[in-house]
Amino acid sequence: MKDPLAPFACFVCYMPDVASLRFDKKHGMPYVSCCACGARTFCKSMSAVRGVFRTARVVEALIRQMQSDPAARALRERDADEDVRALRDHIERVAAARGATETAREDVGHVGSVVPVAAAAK
Ligand SMILES: [Zn+2]
Repeated sequence: MKDPLAPFACFVCYMPDVASLRFDKKHGMPYVSCCACGARTFCKSMSAVRGVFRTARVVEALIRQMQSDPAARALRERDADEDVRALRDHIERVAAARGATETAREDVGHVGSVVPVAAAAK
């Protein structure tokens, strides 16, 4: 049986062995914390924790596939790039509708600038 508190792959940044299950000091509520991207996901039940563990295994399988299959990796990177582009377009439309300044639009420019699987494949 795997140690339930051992690090696992983060479903936000797709880095292997960077997320871990922790417990909120005040209420003892379980949450996932990623030391690579800083994501925090709070779980209100053990069924949610179960989903976290299941998802981590799926993400780990996808990372292995992307590391061993350049075509699969290119396809997933392209899909992710398209999603990020769509998000940027959405943000641009919302910012334009609100009359935001150019500086405010540049604040979201870092989205999608990191490709963590590339670092993990080295
Ligand atoms: Zn992460």
